[in-house]
Amino acid sequence: MRKEDPSWRFALGASPVTEGVIVFIETDDNLTGYGYASATAHMGASMEGLTGTLDRLIPHVKEYDALEMSAIRIKMDQALSGNNQAKAAIDNALFDLAAKSMNVPLNRLFGGAVRTEFPVLRILAIKSPEEMAEQAQILFNQGYRYFKIKVQGDVNLDIARVAAIRKRLGEEANLTVDANQAYSPKDAIAALNGMATYRLDLVEQPVAMDDYKGMKLVTDSVPVTVEADESAGSIQEVAHLVENRIVDAISLKVPKLGGLWNTLIAAQICKAGNIRYRFGAHVGSRLLNAHAMQLASSLPDLWYASEFGEFARLLDDPFEGIDVVGGFIQIPNAVGTGVKPIGT
Ligand SMILES: [Mg+2]
Repeated sequence: MRKEDPSWRFALGASPVTEGVIVFIETDDNLTGYGYASATAHMGASMEGLTGTLDRLIPHVKEYDALEMSAIRIKMDQALSGNNQAKAAIDNALFDLAAKSMNVPLNRLFGGAVRTEFPVLRILAIKSPEEMAEQAQILFNQGYRYFKIKVQGDVNLDIARVAAIRKRLGEEANLTVDANQAYSPKDAIAALNGMATYRLDLVEQPVAMDDYKGMKLVTDSVPVTVEADESAGSIQEVAHLVENRIVDAISLKVPKLGGLWNTLIAAQICKAGNIRYRFGAHVGSRLLNAHAMQLASSLPDLWYASEFGEFARLLDDPFEGIDVVGGFIQIPNAVGTGVKPIGT
């Protein structure tokens, strides 16, 4: 899918498009489950890797009844370790199928919805402080009140970005930053202490994903909630971060964690360790966001605002059925994920 803004940039790169693969699984009784595999280079998934992995895994899925999800998960892990993004698409398509076979919304498989509406946090791509404040104002006028300021690792310029956006939007806006690993631990501490003057609720992944000691140093040194994203790339990594209180919060993403089932486990690990969690950016089709929202709706401890609206800046989405209205998004009262291919 093309991006509305072809110059969209974050600390790890820039691309005018976002790529993914739609998986669909059909049953003998003519039900179709859909899943979205997300090609995210900074989480280790390329388009080539995804298509090759899916070609290898899908024949195994065909050996089972679609409702034998545990057996399919074990088989996929035996056939190929890792490769969470491809496995997530299959896992999610099976959950969609299971819900459709029971004629219920997908959240019922996780105990049912305890909320049907979410405040949406939107990302501001790296640009000059003035340009970012302008983009923030456009989103604010559309009703958004939660913002994620992408920063690049330049302490003074990044503080200027936060200052410009706070000044422009006023106190009603809730601000967070995402460094995508761009800082050294000490630069992160300096930057965050500077940004805290402008009231900052959250910093995402300030330092390198494998620098656990650096991350803990930042967590222990700043008055801002520190959240892991790239560091939390599997349920094992989530467990490590929680057990050692390396961060205050975790960004859950269905693709990086390997599907809805593993994301549910990750949320429970966070809850058990008193670490906050929310859902990070599910960049890609509405299909992917619908899956994530169906699970999120059933989690009573979900914290802050989640990123279920990035599809709004993408063109050519082949799915329809959800949209952000006034800064909020609702799960549809429909069977399965609640989204469907356009025109079906
Ligand atoms: Mg992030």
